Amino acid sequence: MAPIRVGIVGVPPLDVIRELCEADCRILDLDEPQVHKSIDLSSELLPRVYCAILRTVVLNAMFLDLDRVYIDVGPGKCDCALHVASILEEMLTAPVIRTTNLDNQPFGTPICRTRMKLFDKFMAVTAGVRSVKPADNLEPCTPTAGFWGVPPRDFSILEAFPDTTHIYGWTRCMENKTPADLELETHVNPDIPMVFFSQSFCAKSALAHHLARLHPRALFLDCDVTAGNSARAKIEAFLELSGVPTGPEG
Ligand code: SF4
Repeated sequence: MAPIRVGIVGVPPLDVIRELCEADCRILDLDEPQVHKSIDLSSELLPRVYCAILRTVVLNAMFLDLDRVYIDVGPGKCDCALHVASILEEMLTAPVIRTTNLDNQPFGTPICRTRMKLFDKFMAVTAGVRSVKPADNLEPCTPTAGFWGVPPRDFSILEAFPDTTHIYGWTRCMENKTPADLELETHVNPDIPMVFFSQSFCAKSALAHHLARLHPRALFLDCDVTAGNSARAKIEAFLELSGVPTGPEG
């Protein structure tokens, strides 16, 4: 029998993920691109002035055959997701279950703090959402740069960072399995240069901008669906001017 196909948006509570894993469901992370279609197709249901993550959610839901959807709509995600839940409910025949993830048992953040390509770190953290297991106990490295924010829609902006970049913000909360932990989300390192990233049209851009303003060596960066050359050039220039060695030896 084919496995039950369950879409998730945000980080559903651990009990939900445990139940899905025990039932051998196929978990599809709708926050990530799962279909090769133009994101503009989602604009029939969701305005273009919405973040690229939720536009991706709607696009995925339009084309994937789903048996059920769990969407986190509490403080661990955002109000925009709450409204997208209503859209999903109207467009799908599958049940759309709203969750409020207030899990507060910390799982640790070894991936965010280890030496590894930043792209691979983000892949590992986002894959961890579909699992109830903590990450392997990786050695922490001394950080030379920081990336604060949600996992970007376009991972190509991660290329310029050195392998010794530590991840902060909501992505760190994701790995810790405490997505509503605002204290952890606002934690930064003032001793290293940091990029404060937000998706365009995301409410977290206020927090990213605020934290960047208070940080001694910060770049606030806002990107939409694709990052483009100018965003990548800004990151490269910022790291270079901050004296950060890039590449694997960085
Ligand atoms: S990027 Fe911002 S607005 Fe979009 S889903 Fe994430 S928290 Fe919500």
